Amino acid sequence: METYRKPEFDDTFKVVIASPEVAPFAKTGGLADVTGSLPKALAMLGNDVRVILPRYRGITGLSTVTDFPVWVGWRKATAIVRQSFIRAKLDDAEKLVPVYFIDNYQYFDRDHLYGYFDESERFAFFSRAILETLKAIDFAPDILHLNDWQTGPAALLLKEQYGDDPFYRGIATVFTIHNLQYQGNFPKECLRLLGLGDEFFIPELLEFYGNMSFMKAGILYSDIITTVSKTYAKEMQTPEMGHGMDGLLRKRSADVFGIVNGINYHEFNPETDPRIYKNYGTGDLAGKRQNKYELQKEVGLPTADVPVIGIVSRLVPQKGFDLIDEALDQIVSLNLQLVILGKGEEKYEEMVRSAAERFPEKVATIIGFNAVLAQRIYAGSDMFLMPSLFEPCGLGQLISLRYGTIPIVRETGGLKDTIHDYEPERGIGNGFSFREYTAQALVDAIKRALAIYRDRTRWEKLVNSAMESDFSWNKSAVEYMALYALARNRHKALAIA
Ligand code: ADP
Repeated sequence: METYRKPEFDDTFKVVIASPEVAPFAKTGGLADVTGSLPKALAMLGNDVRVILPRYRGITGLSTVTDFPVWVGWRKATAIVRQSFIRAKLDDAEKLVPVYFIDNYQYFDRDHLYGYFDESERFAFFSRAILETLKAIDFAPDILHLNDWQTGPAALLLKEQYGDDPFYRGIATVFTIHNLQYQGNFPKECLRLLGLGDEFFIPELLEFYGNMSFMKAGILYSDIITTVSKTYAKEMQTPEMGHGMDGLLRKRSADVFGIVNGINYHEFNPETDPRIYKNYGTGDLAGKRQNKYELQKEVGLPTADVPVIGIVSRLVPQKGFDLIDEALDQIVSLNLQLVILGKGEEKYEEMVRSAAERFPEKVATIIGFNAVLAQRIYAGSDMFLMPSLFEPCGLGQLISLRYGTIPIVRETGGLKDTIHDYEPERGIGNGFSFREYTAQALVDAIKRALAIYRDRTRWEKLVNSAMESDFSWNKSAVEYMALYALARNRHKALAIA
């Protein structure tokens, strides 16, 4: 397990975090959790943090700050900047982090966040509006922290079009990749939306297999590139897992880093979580057993004292459902129960639904997205299964640890960095893991977990130490600060050179 590292510097930063989504305002995935939580932790560590995102439909209660024109190719659009706050709390201290919303009725006042015909135009506008907002609110940060392809062009524009302006010259950029699979690749003509000419359409710059790529703009032009775990930072530089960007990432490998996500320790706290059946803390295993009993009742499984394995997941190939399918008959032949909550691809929904029909005493399946039931599964299960094919970071295993539920995971990406296979002889480790993407390796890991489960003393120790492990945001925020320092130094060195 990583230990807490103090930053090797004692200064703080002016930071702007720009993202297409930020919880609790707009969320489709883990990215929003990161950009909603990191600013709070950074603020508590003494940094001066601001956040920028689009104002999508449904975000209300904002005050209006200012407005200005933004050029999108030869179209003049208007950005209205509105404002709200994220409240950061640590013990008795409280800070308000200003959040700026870029409002434009044509681009963002729509039913969904993404999935439109004019994505290139919407996020070309957003990327330029980020830079214009800095001047409009008169806040030149040390660090502009960009997230995912929707903000990639901001790094390019900053260097290519705003670099001569002293206001912008000192701003260093950090680009975080949350999902390398989504790259924002568009036809060549979209260069115009950023005010760029054909000279940018070469493989060394924005051309990407016949398109131009917003993600490439972020990777090429940012001072530092990060992703959400150290192992995934290495994996994304390989042809197998690099989604075509591996060559470029390898070229910049000295500037590529991984920082694992944290979870919100206030929201995910078994001692106070209002969603679970009974609150419990470290050492209160009777309280945890009560949650198991209630969970079994709620999902219609026999209330027997057998180990319960939970799954809460999107039902997609990434999460390892082909393995689960292959291993299912072997898994249900063991002395255990399986509770599956998920939503996703039809074939996997059908697979887990039919497992519950075939083995009603052993498997309970709930299809849907249900945040309350998810917490009840985290609290009421003994083990949590996450056999992912690939996993940039993963939150499920971290939430499980916090609720004393022991993860069984495949060693990939963030799962590899956060879960360490239990070693019975030495009594160390916080879960069970396997490397090969095979049904047999998965079943063997489950069997090893069951063997330790039967040894009550060892199991209780494992559960208690899981609950005491620290995956709070504070630790990751300190690591981001170390990278901010590096980004600032590299940026300064470039300016001198
Ligand atoms: P990803 O972002 O790839 O889906 P993560 O493990 O990073 O995977 O995060 C998934 C988050 O979404 C976890 O907090 C998990 O509990 C939650 N989640 C996934 N599926 C469901 C569901 N069907 N109902 C409720 N919560 C879910």
